[in-house]
Amino acid sequence: MGTDKQVDAVIVGAGFAGLYMAYLLRQNGFAIQGIERGDDVGGTWYWNRYPGCRCDVESIEYCYQFDKELEQEWQWSERYAAQPEILAYAKHVAERHDLYTLFQFETQVEAATYDEQSQRWRVQTDKGDIATQYLIMATGCLSTANTPDFPGLADFQGRTIHTGLWPQEGVDFTGRRVGIIGTGSSGIQSIPHIAAEASELTVFQRTANFSVPAQNRPSDPEEVARIKSNYDHYRQRARQQPAAFGPDFPRNLDSVLDATPEERETRFEAHWQLGGFMFLGAFSDLGMNEEANWHAAEFVRNKIRKIVKDPATAELLCPDGVIGCKRLCADTNYFQTYNQEHVHLVDVSTQPIERITPTGLVANGTEYEFDDIVFATGFDAMTGSLLRINITGVDGLTLNEKWAAGPRTYLGLMTAGFPNLFTMTGPGSPSVLAHMITGVEHHAEYITDIMLWMKDHQQ
Ligand code: FAD
Repeated sequence: MGTDKQVDAVIVGAGFAGLYMAYLLRQNGFAIQGIERGDDVGGTWYWNRYPGCRCDVESIEYCYQFDKELEQEWQWSERYAAQPEILAYAKHVAERHDLYTLFQFETQVEAATYDEQSQRWRVQTDKGDIATQYLIMATGCLSTANTPDFPGLADFQGRTIHTGLWPQEGVDFTGRRVGIIGTGSSGIQSIPHIAAEASELTVFQRTANFSVPAQNRPSDPEEVARIKSNYDHYRQRARQQPAAFGPDFPRNLDSVLDATPEERETRFEAHWQLGGFMFLGAFSDLGMNEEANWHAAEFVRNKIRKIVKDPATAELLCPDGVIGCKRLCADTNYFQTYNQEHVHLVDVSTQPIERITPTGLVANGTEYEFDDIVFATGFDAMTGSLLRINITGVDGLTLNEKWAAGPRTYLGLMTAGFPNLFTMTGPGSPSVLAHMITGVEHHAEYITDIMLWMKDHQQ
């Protein structure tokens, strides 16, 4: 890429957002350049290759809507597809619509500066510069892995692996002593798989999280045929749901507070068996009333107490607080894993991990020895990828300065003082709490409409 390349739009990121954005803009006659730091498309599903990684929105929904033929053709093997299948889908979309040619891979965007005179962005990458009228950040809100800056980290002599930067060739833990830090969604999904290989697995938990069984299973051909026979209608009903998915979820309209203890138990049990987010549809007021929410939370805590045989471990795994406030985790045999003798849980909620040593780590004054340390420590979410790029807008104001007291945006998609800069799934955008592929399709269509309007009005 030369220093004087000029385009209408630069799109940063080749995840689901960037791919559809590129598809739409090319279709509408814009000259574009996509840039992606990875060596392939897929974004989230390219980087998160940890064992057990899968979606929590059902596969029949967690896919694009814009290509009606693909919607009919593509067959998901499971209710919740695993990462390799979702990555294969992203690659298939890119091939089918000839999107690979629009992206330059293994290229990192480092800075972008708005030139008020030419009204163009100058985008600096590690492979050269490019000038563009529009700069579209499809950089993802969960794409910058967060590794806490533990003292001594560089001295560890074993392997360190972050769930969000998992090696493409996979990791074999057979016979190894593994420490894993973090019990959020990635930890909850990967721990049962790592435990199946490791000789010892020690889990360091700062915050216990609510998790319900995913009840994953092979796709049901009858259900798939029913949905595909009227996919548009299904999608349209999905868009009307609070989080843009689950139009057929059983949602009860009555209050948990009006139910007898037996009725509560029966209803919660039925929704536990349904799996995933459907648990929260057991009663209408779980997200509205603290007392109602407590009943659901206590049901889950009691499940953990029944599943996990050691009472002290079970109590540590019981989350306090509100269920469903953070995105609910969906697991397969997560709590059961702690019944295995070689799996240990260490509470680091009151005293953080002190330091990493050449042979392990020190927590609560105890030294642990490991061959491998896995960081399931999540992401610098929402703003991380944007603020790592040195973005300078009008009057030399940087995005870091503008958002120093927290991000201020219009619909999460734009921020004043940074003309023609779009931030797909940016901070405050509705899609980050919802079905995100639906969200990014919506964002891409909205951005395209704005750009077409600008073109029509000769802006
Ligand atoms: P991403 O897929 O994150 O893509 C962003 C791309 O931008 C990345 O490839 C990155 O390399 C690139 N990039 C970033 N910065 C730069 C730079 N400076 N230079 C060059 N390239 C850059 N959502 C759901 O709705 N349902 C789910 O079930 C679900 N499951 C998830 C499971 C996991 C483990 C994770 C991490 C997320 C999950 N999500 C889920 C959220 C998921 O991130 C979105 O659904 C969706 O994949 C995001 O797509 P995106 O294109 O916006 O961002």
